[in-house]
This record gives sequence, C-alpha cells and structure tokens, in this order.
Amino acid sequence: MDRRKFLVGAGLGIMAATAPISLSAMGAATKKTTKSGRMTLKFLPFELKLRHAFNLAKYSRTSTPGVQVKIEYEGVVGYGEASMPPYLGESIETVTKFLSKVDLSQFNDPFKIEEILAYVDAIEPENRAAKASVDIALHDLVGKLIGQPWYKIWGLSLDKIPQSSFTIGIDTPEVVKQKIKEAEDYKVIKIKLGLDNDKEMIDIIRKCTDRPICVDANRGWKTKEQAMQIIEYLADKNCLFIEQPMMEECLDDTAWIRERSPIPIIADEVFHRLPDIVKLKDYYDGINIKLMKSTGMSEAYKMITLARAFGMKIMCGCMTETSCAIAAAAQLSPLIDWADLDGNVLIADDIFSGVKVIDGKVMPSDKPGIGVTPIKGKYPEF
Ligand code: MG
Repeated sequence: MDRRKFLVGAGLGIMAATAPISLSAMGAATKKTTKSGRMTLKFLPFELKLRHAFNLAKYSRTSTPGVQVKIEYEGVVGYGEASMPPYLGESIETVTKFLSKVDLSQFNDPFKIEEILAYVDAIEPENRAAKASVDIALHDLVGKLIGQPWYKIWGLSLDKIPQSSFTIGIDTPEVVKQKIKEAEDYKVIKIKLGLDNDKEMIDIIRKCTDRPICVDANRGWKTKEQAMQIIEYLADKNCLFIEQPMMEECLDDTAWIRERSPIPIIADEVFHRLPDIVKLKDYYDGINIKLMKSTGMSEAYKMITLARAFGMKIMCGCMTETSCAIAAAAQLSPLIDWADLDGNVLIADDIFSGVKVIDGKVMPSDKPGIGVTPIKGKYPEF
C-alpha cells in the first residue's frame, strides 16, 4: 500500500470507529469530556519492518502488514493489534474494513467480555487477526480497570512459564551462524525446514549450537516417507517436537507419521479455532495456539482447557508482531508446554515495551492488563 492510501485508510478508520462515540459523548454532555461511559475503538494501519528477510518453505518477506488498535473507556486505554502474515488471507484492507463495522458504543460495561466478543465474532466469519486485535485491547482495558495483569486474574504463576524458542529461517550457513549469535537470550532454537536441504540445515545448526531445537516444516514435506526420514534424523539431535509436517489435508499421512515418530507432532497451519481441536485430536499430538488465529486471548484460554482434556500438548506461537500481542500471549504461557514468542524480536522497531526475556523465558511485566507501555516517539499518534 502506498503512503497516501495508507493515510487515507487510517483517517477513515478512525472516523468510522469514532463516529458513534461522538454521538454518545454528546448525549453525556454533563460528564467530563474524557468519560463517556461508553467504549470507543480506534485503529491505524501500521506496517512492521523485519530485521531480516523471513524465508519459509512457501515464501519470503521483509515486512508484515499490521493494524494497531485502541479501546478507550472512562479515560483508560487498552492496546491491541492485528498482524497479518500473507498465508492467513487477511490484509490491511480486510482488517480495517472489519474494524469499521465494530461498534463498541452499544456496550457500557467492558467487563462483559464474553458478550462483547460474541458480538465481534458474529459480525463476519473468519477475520481472525482483526477479531484478535479487539480481544487483546479489551483484555488490556479490563485488566487495567481491575488493576492486575491477566496471569494474576487467571490465577497463574510465572514460575510455570516454559522457555521460549527463537526462530531461525532457512538461509546460508553464514547468516544462520549470525542469527544464532543474535538468539543468545533464548535457550531453544526453532528451525524452519521443508525444503530440499533439510539435513544440511540441521547439520549447520548442530555445528553452531547444542541448544535443544524444535522443527517447523510449515507443510513443506511432500510425502510421509520423506517426513519420517527427516524426523528420524532429528530424533537423536535433541529435537523437542515437529510442527506441521505436511499439508493440512494430509490427515491420514500425518497420523501415520505420528504413530511412528518418537517426538510429538504439532498442528499449526491446519489449526485455527476452538472446534478444530476435536477434529485434530486423533491426528496430532498437540496444537500451536496463536492469538492471531484464535481470535485472541479469550478463545486461546478455552483452547488450552479443551486440548488438555484430550491429553494434548500445547505450544503458543506468534506472528511477526510487536510486544503488544507477545505480552498478551505471555499472560497465558504459564499454562503451556512450549512457548514460541519471538515475534517482537523479529521486527526492526518495536513500539511497545512490556516483555523481557529472562533465563530464556518470555516474561510479562507486572503492569495491569497485558502489561505493555507504548514507547514515546515510536508508538504512532492516532
Ligand atoms: Mg508453524
């Protein structure tokens, strides 16, 4: 999108989102101007530049389209965001179009999270990242109104947060070595396989580090036999699990792999919403929850509960996104087996602070809500 279109889109977005609010504010003329008693939603398209080109089995990219979101209520602001990697089918256009339809001015109680999110979910099918941006901002707002971070509201302990992996894309040995150096803070390395040079990549990684690895094939392996060959090669190389070995539709082949694999097989691209867990439980050992797929924190929490009931493993991943969505996911991470929350490190210029990597774990701050603070001079005005 060129800059002019971007600004026009941004302006329209704010106008569309604020129009109902001005009306309700007019009706409440006796109240202070900052306190309308209604929620207002604003949004702004915001492209995230990547530190390195990201090379996956199916494509390569240097930036990710995103949309920043704010929900304001009684002078308190909740922050959220949508991040839209190309394979999920959302874009600046679809997200801003969706958010223009969200009218939160009809709700005067942000604590009715379930009711508000059910309304948002029913506006249009799909649009999962757009829905997640509202969900995250609403959770941030409500946490701030309560005065506590969400991990505390949920009764979770930060001691249970697992170490997070750091993802390294397919690249030349020199670049891979450099990236591993940059990933010093992380104790687990995630590698993206699914091309013809998988064994070569594994050998390069193992020459550079003895840290545990996890492998994401991103649907790249063409046959179950090819997948098993690499998995067997990986099994004695301290690999924790395999993500999405084959295409979404290859369920029987995946079950065949799962039966033979000494390490867990995790569903990612094939897994989006809560009901998918029931469909996938007989084919995969676990699920990769990402807020941009799950429509946010509320459904992610339900996913964890349901997947545990089926005895499934749970990882929590992310898109390339700012510390906003990463901090939101970190609130849930005491409940999961593996974290893969490095999206904020993969972008060139984060606009939020609020998560820290301590002993390889992505830790949320003690601040209320999702625990983030916009960085002055970097967070866009809107
Ligand atoms: Mg994946």
